[in-house]
Amino acid sequence: MNRMEKLIEAFRKFPSVGPKQAERFAMYVMRADPSEINSLIEAVINAKNEIKFCKKCNNYSAEDFCDICSDLKRDSTTVCVVENPFDIIAIEKTKSYNGVYYVIGSYIIPHYENNSFLSRMDKLIQRVKEEKINEVIIALNTTTEGQATALYIKKNISDYVNKVSRIAFGVPMGADIDYIDEYTLGYALKGRTPITDRDF
Ligand SMILES: [Zn+2]
Repeated sequence: MNRMEKLIEAFRKFPSVGPKQAERFAMYVMRADPSEINSLIEAVINAKNEIKFCKKCNNYSAEDFCDICSDLKRDSTTVCVVENPFDIIAIEKTKSYNGVYYVIGSYIIPHYENNSFLSRMDKLIQRVKEEKINEVIIALNTTTEGQATALYIKKNISDYVNKVSRIAFGVPMGADIDYIDEYTLGYALKGRTPITDRDF
């Protein structure tokens, strides 16, 4: 295998990258400025070597505690539970949330001893017992596993917090109501909220 083939092969290992896309990535590498490629390599190596998990919320972090957990301006009495650190990035982009997070890592799998989930679940229970947490918002996927996990979390923490909520499911912005499937529309109806001036 020559060097070019090796490069294409390396890109093919990335998720959802097919042969044509791997070729385009390799072509980009060949055409790009060497300084650009060097900073890409440096970013990959630094991320891999220096990023660890935040001791409090399991987010990626260069320090023991991540930027969000260390930020005193954030509301530490509201905790949003997500599956992975990339969900935190997505929620942060909305600029609509000022609480903190907890990364659960994976979903509970029925009839299967899912150790990493259970140990993170224990850590979450410990946290809500020790800290004064007002609300836990569950922001997991709308799959069956995601919803079973949401219920499991709620059952285990509701004695220690004032409120357990979940993000609303429903009608995507700009969507036509008559194109939405009945399950999504049903959920959207159940999760309806009063109209306020802030909505407009
Ligand atoms: Zn953290």
